[in-house]
Amino acid sequence: MPIYRRKNNGDTWHWCNNCSVLPTSDYKEVKRKPTSGKFCNQCTGKEKKGNCEKIGIA
Ligand SMILES: [Zn+2]
Repeated sequence: MPIYRRKNNGDTWHWCNNCSVLPTSDYKEVKRKPTSGKFCNQCTGKEKKGNCEKIGIA
């Protein structure tokens, strides 16, 4: 199951560990696809290319 992460004060969701703008502190994670907010362009691009390393449960 994918994990989606965003900054506590942000509205853009990330789900690739190898995204260069993935929040590393002060973030919130959810275990299902969010229904609000935006999806990161970089994560979307990685997903399409098949090189998205999904965020796992720590
Ligand atoms: Zn991202």
